[in-house]
Amino acid sequence: MLKNCSTCGKQTKKYSEFGCPSCDALIVRCDHCRLVSNPYKCPKCGIDGP
Ligand SMILES: [Zn+2]
Ligand SMILES: [Zn+2]
Repeated sequence: MLKNCSTCGKQTKKYSEFGCPSCDALIVRCDHCRLVSNPYKCPKCGIDGP
């Protein structure tokens, strides 16, 4: 199943998904963004992190 990466917006098959630490949104990060350590940004509350 394809998901949109929360960081780069691309559709990705390989991703990691985790809950935002400050709200109940789900953050999706693709393999590439994880590899280059792009910080994520929560689409709901706007928090960002490593
Ligand atoms: Zn990405
Ligand atoms: Zn959030």
